[in-house]
Amino acid sequence: MSQKINTKTAVITGASRGIGRAIAIELAGQGYYTFINYHSDKDGAGQTLEQVRAAGSNGEIMQFDVADKNQSKAAIDHIVDRCETIDVLVNNAGIVDDGLFIMMKEESWDKVIRTSLDGFYNMTKPILKKMVRQKQGAVVSIASLSGLTGNRGQANYSAAKAGLIGASRSIASEVARIGIRVNVVAPGLIETDMTKDLPMANVKTMIPMARVGQPEEVARVVKFLCSEDASYVTGQVISVNGGMF
Ligand code: NAD
Repeated sequence: MSQKINTKTAVITGASRGIGRAIAIELAGQGYYTFINYHSDKDGAGQTLEQVRAAGSNGEIMQFDVADKNQSKAAIDHIVDRCETIDVLVNNAGIVDDGLFIMMKEESWDKVIRTSLDGFYNMTKPILKKMVRQKQGAVVSIASLSGLTGNRGQANYSAAKAGLIGASRSIASEVARIGIRVNVVAPGLIETDMTKDLPMANVKTMIPMARVGQPEEVARVVKFLCSEDASYVTGQVISVNGGMF
């Protein structure tokens, strides 16, 4: 069997593009060996890995569906086997499937909750057990402004993201004494595939800074929360939204 990775490590879900990719690159710049999870876009995940290497670190790509408990468990077993420690978990994978609540198909409700909220559970519980044994670690989950304020047409997404915020705050208070920090980043509108079909000219008028954010602007906040600079920060939700509230 190959030697265990003994540098610091980070697991990032949904890192084949967008915010997840930017987070992987940012953490690679801090020396983290990165486990780059992807669901279906192998080429995208490969590009993330190339950029992780260009940022001076290394990593590996891992295909699994965070909504699937068995797949997630198998992936985490592999990661635990590969590493001395898991230092950072970033729960980034998420999807939208918008529609007015009374018209919303049960399938739309289920798949959004399964990915964003069950995905959080499937990843966080087993990795937290490892962090508890290590007596250190940081978990950062990507919620949304929609989870804080609600948003027309996004009852499923708002519910999933609000659930993730509540769970993170509860868990933060359970593991704070052990040296593990659990925080949430709540982006507003960020320029990624998820927002590419929005009418940007209209959208910008709702943002005090009059522009959408870039994935790197979210990733830098995640980097801060993972770092020693945030050593006394836990159970918090940090908004990255150009002044929207
Ligand atoms: P994106 O659609 O570009 O990326 C989402 C990533 O999640 C993709 O890599 C996708 O493959 C992955 N993913 C989806 N389902 C998955 C699954 N079941 N298992 C594993 N991976 C899966 O979107 P993004 O904007 O980069 O979004 C990243 C996170 O940020 C999401 O949680 C999203 O809800 C959140 N967010 C985005 C915005 C925004 O404006 N873009 C705003 C607030 C919150």
